[in-house]
Amino acid sequence: MGRLDGRVVIVTGAARGQGEQEARLFRAEGAEVLLADVLDDRGEALAKELGARYTHLDVGEEEDWQAAVATAKAAYGHVDGLVNNAGILRFHALVDTPLEEFMEVVRVNQTGCFLGVRTVAPELADGGTIVNTASYTGLTGMAGVGAYAASKHAVLGLTRVAALELAPRGIRVNAICPGAVDTAMANPARLDPDADPEQSVRALDGFYRKLVPLGRIGRPEEVARLALFLTSEDSSYITGQPFVIDGGWLAGVSVI
Ligand code: NAD
Repeated sequence: MGRLDGRVVIVTGAARGQGEQEARLFRAEGAEVLLADVLDDRGEALAKELGARYTHLDVGEEEDWQAAVATAKAAYGHVDGLVNNAGILRFHALVDTPLEEFMEVVRVNQTGCFLGVRTVAPELADGGTIVNTASYTGLTGMAGVGAYAASKHAVLGLTRVAALELAPRGIRVNAICPGAVDTAMANPARLDPDADPEQSVRALDGFYRKLVPLGRIGRPEEVARLALFLTSEDSSYITGQPFVIDGGWLAGVSVI
């Protein structure tokens, strides 16, 4: 018995990184998964490997969302879960951030999450689940990522309001707040075909040893297990909450 047997879940940003691992784990736990992304070749190939489906979905585009839900319903008949995972990160001090860049980060991270909830929630079977991917920076500040942090704080606001509004239908809405995770976002070497992935992870583990109590960068498979918990019946009495998965980074600073 899989923990998601009989459930149909849409995962955005599923072509790589945390979304890829969520799609893999959800399939392994018995779910039908609709992988959605803008990286069509990669998403198609992964869906084929997993025996799942892929759809092009730019999360900032209303029409793409409607098409994705229609695809899921045509293929599987119903939708039980959504993981709003797609996201982008840009680095600038706030005073140097071009308006265009700020708005693009908001479009993907915040508007994308809003459109996902707004489009998918009415279609969810009662008892459905939504997992929004916020961040460690949805709960605290980090210099150099102002647009991103603002958008991830907003994701937590959306999560709480959606949880309140959807609770009467038994739909649960929670958020994941990862710290640093070994994906292309935090480890650009993952996008370099000439780079040695093991070496890049060792270097990042060394960097985070000083910052993170558990002494290493997180792995996308670890985040996927949290997404599974929040999408399955194991979390049946939990809604409206942010779940920090950061190796203890947010716990505080050490002076010893
Ligand atoms: P990633 O860059 O590997 O994956 C992001 C995925 O989102 C990619 O597949 C990308 O194509 C997709 N995407 C980007 N824009 C999109 C759009 N407009 N529509 C649809 N898909 C789009 O990084 P990741 O770490 O796997 O990121 C997953 C989520 O985790 C993001 O929301 C990110 O903000 C969040 N997060 C990541 C970290 C980290 O350290 N990696 C930390 C905290 C939060």
